[in-house]
Amino acid sequence: MTGVTAYIALGSNLENPAVQIEAAFGALATIAGSRLVKRSSLYRTAPVGFADQPDFINAVGAIETVLEPRALLDALLALEAARGRARTFANAPRTLDLDVLLYGERQINEHGLTVPHPHMHERAFVLVPLAEIAPDCVIPGRGTVRELLRQVDQRGVRIDEGARKAVNAS
Ligand code: ADP
Ligand code: MG
Repeated sequence: MTGVTAYIALGSNLENPAVQIEAAFGALATIAGSRLVKRSSLYRTAPVGFADQPDFINAVGAIETVLEPRALLDALLALEAARGRARTFANAPRTLDLDVLLYGERQINEHGLTVPHPHMHERAFVLVPLAEIAPDCVIPGRGTVRELLRQVDQRGVRIDEGARKAVNAS
């Protein structure tokens, strides 16, 4: 299968986040016309924006897909919904958040779909896991992941050993 390499951000801070993220990697691997080619470690990260909520588990996966970006987004939103994701307010706690970070080098600005994800270049919880699997990857209009990573505060983003144990135990 030839396709485009797309990078997906995974995040959860409710209902056993590490288990949610492991399950989400499994689900990503089942999206039609797509295969999971790389996955980062699980990272424990401090909440951004709305601080009074549990820590997050974040990770990034690379998929190779023949789906167009909109179809890929719809597949991700369906996986979120299947995991009981409710949308309450911006930056609210969530069982599962799946975002399209990059779709090849395409730049997309459509209603409900902006790629590259508009905040990815400034978020350590995205750049750290992305740098683990694709440090030389280019964020169109911004630079390489490696360069951008130098400009963010990485404190508060660390590999979660506890998360691994939680997954193994479940
Ligand atoms: P956030 O991820 O910013 O916390 P949500 O997950 O609630 O917010 O997403 C809200 C909407 O953002 C989605 O319904 C989707 O249409 C839109 N959106 C725009 N660009 C993207 C993208 N690159 N990846 C995921 N969702 C996106
Ligand atoms: Mg989202």
